[in-house]
Amino acid sequence: MKKAPARGLRPESDHSFMSQITDSSAPVRVRIAPSPTGDPHVGTAYIGLINYLYARQRNGQFVLRIEDTDRTRFVSTSEQMIFDSLRWLGLNWHEGPDVGGPYGPYRQSERTEIYRAHADQLLASGHAYRCFCTADKLEADRRQQIAAKLPPRYPGTCRALTPEQIAAHLAAGTPSVVRMRVPLEGSTTFTDELRGAITFDHHNVDDQVLLKSDGYPTYHLANVVDDHLMQITDVIRAEEWISSTPKHVLLYQSFGWPLPRFWHMPLLRNQDKSKISKRKNPVSLIYYREAGYLPQAVLNFLGLLGGGMPADFNNGTEKFTLDEMAANFRHENIRTGGPVFDLTKLKWLNGEYIRALAPDDFYAALRSNILADSYLRPIAALIQTRIELLSQFGDLTGFLLNDNTHPPESVYLPKNRSREETLAFVADQLAALEAADWQHEAIESALKLLSSEKQWSVKENFMLLRAILTGSTMSPPLVESMILFGKARSIDRLRRFLEAEKKRPAQKA
Ligand code: GLU
Repeated sequence: MKKAPARGLRPESDHSFMSQITDSSAPVRVRIAPSPTGDPHVGTAYIGLINYLYARQRNGQFVLRIEDTDRTRFVSTSEQMIFDSLRWLGLNWHEGPDVGGPYGPYRQSERTEIYRAHADQLLASGHAYRCFCTADKLEADRRQQIAAKLPPRYPGTCRALTPEQIAAHLAAGTPSVVRMRVPLEGSTTFTDELRGAITFDHHNVDDQVLLKSDGYPTYHLANVVDDHLMQITDVIRAEEWISSTPKHVLLYQSFGWPLPRFWHMPLLRNQDKSKISKRKNPVSLIYYREAGYLPQAVLNFLGLLGGGMPADFNNGTEKFTLDEMAANFRHENIRTGGPVFDLTKLKWLNGEYIRALAPDDFYAALRSNILADSYLRPIAALIQTRIELLSQFGDLTGFLLNDNTHPPESVYLPKNRSREETLAFVADQLAALEAADWQHEAIESALKLLSSEKQWSVKENFMLLRAILTGSTMSPPLVESMILFGKARSIDRLRRFLEAEKKRPAQKA
C-alpha cells in the first residue's frame, strides 16, 4: 500500500478516483456488518457507535446486516448475542434482520441467489472467471511461491481457459470457484476519508475468490453487492479491511456502480500496542455486561478512543453521554494512530458512573446484574443441600458474587508440580475452555482431553481449576458453578490469575 503523491500525478494505467459517490446529497445510509462467529466483540460496539453517531448526526439510516456466509465459522447463538449486546448499549438500528426494512433480507445466508446472479453477471462480462484448480494444486503453487520468496497468490492458471475447456470441466462435474479477474497492470487508488488517497499496485492484489465451490459468496462479493443494493453511502469499518478495499473498488467498477465513501477506523490496541486480543483483554461484550460495567460507561469509553470528541468539550472532561456525543463528535477528527483499550480507564469511568447513579438506580443496577433473580435462583438450587443455615449462603457462593478470588500458591499448587509447569498448564486450560461450548459435557470432555494430552490427572486438573475459579479447594460442583458463572467471566478469571501470577515473584516454600 502506498499513498498517491497527488491526484494530478497518477499514471495513465491507474484505475483511480472513478466516480466516488455520485450524489453527495444522497441521504446518508451506513451499516455495520458483523459476522456471527462467536461472542459479540468490543470492536463491533466501537464501529457500531461510530456508524450510529454518523447516521444520527445526518438524519441518516443505520443498518445492521449479518454476514453469515462463512459456514465453517458460523455459531448459531452468536446473532442473538449481537442483537442483545448492541441493544444493551442503546445502539439501535433502523433496518436489520430482526426489525426488517425496505432493503432486506438483512442476513446474507438468505441472499445467496442474489450473489450467484451477480457472479454470473461478472462471468458474462469477463470481469470474473471460473477456476477449477484443486486444493492440492493451490497448495503446491503456494509452496513453490514461498520457496521462491514470492508473496503467495493465485498464479492465474485458469485465467485463460477456452470456452471448450470450461464446458468440458463443467460437463465432467469438476468443482469450481469464481475468481475476480484483477488487471495485471496498473493500480487502484481510492480515497479514505481519514487518510486521503491510498494506492495499491495490481500485482499486489490477488485474483480473489468471489463465489466458493459450495455456492456461497466470499465476504468480498457479498459485501460489495449488499452495500450497493442497500444503498450504503458510507462504509465505516475497521482498518484491517483497507487491503480488501482495492478489490471492492474494482468490483464496483466492474459492475459500473458508484463508490461509497470509505472510512477505516484505527484498530483498538492492547496496552502493548498490539491489536486488541482476548489473550490480553476481555473482548467479549458479554463479559462487560456480566462483569457489571454500565452501558453508558462503555459507550463513553468507546467514544473517547480515537479522538472524535473535541478536546475542550466541557472544559476537557472525559465524561460524556451518547446525546452529547451525537451533538459534538466529529468523525473527521478521528486520529489514525491505534487507540489503546485501557481497562483501568474504563473501570475508572465505570466507577464515576456508578457513583453518579441515584441510590434507587444503583440498587436497580445491582438487581439486574449480580443480584438478579435469574442469577441467584440457580445458585440457590446448587447449594440448597449443602448448608445448614440460610446465612451460610454467602460462605459457599462468595466466589460467584465476588469480582476476584485469587488463591495463594499454597491453595492452587498441586503436590509434586512446579509453579512453572502449573502456570503453563493453566494457559492450556484457558485455551481449551475458550474453545469449548459452555455446556456440561463439552466442558468436561475438553478438560479430560487436555488431561490425557498433557499427562495431568483429571483430579489435578479439576482441583487446579477449582482453586483458581473459586479461590478454594472446596466448592459446590465445579462444572455447574462454571456454567452459572458464565464463560466470559470464567475465562477472564483464569486470564487475570495468569497475568497476576506472571508478575509476581515466586513465593518461598
Ligand atoms: N463481516 C465483516 C466483519 O465481520 C464486515 C466488514 C465490513 O464492515 O466491511 O467485520
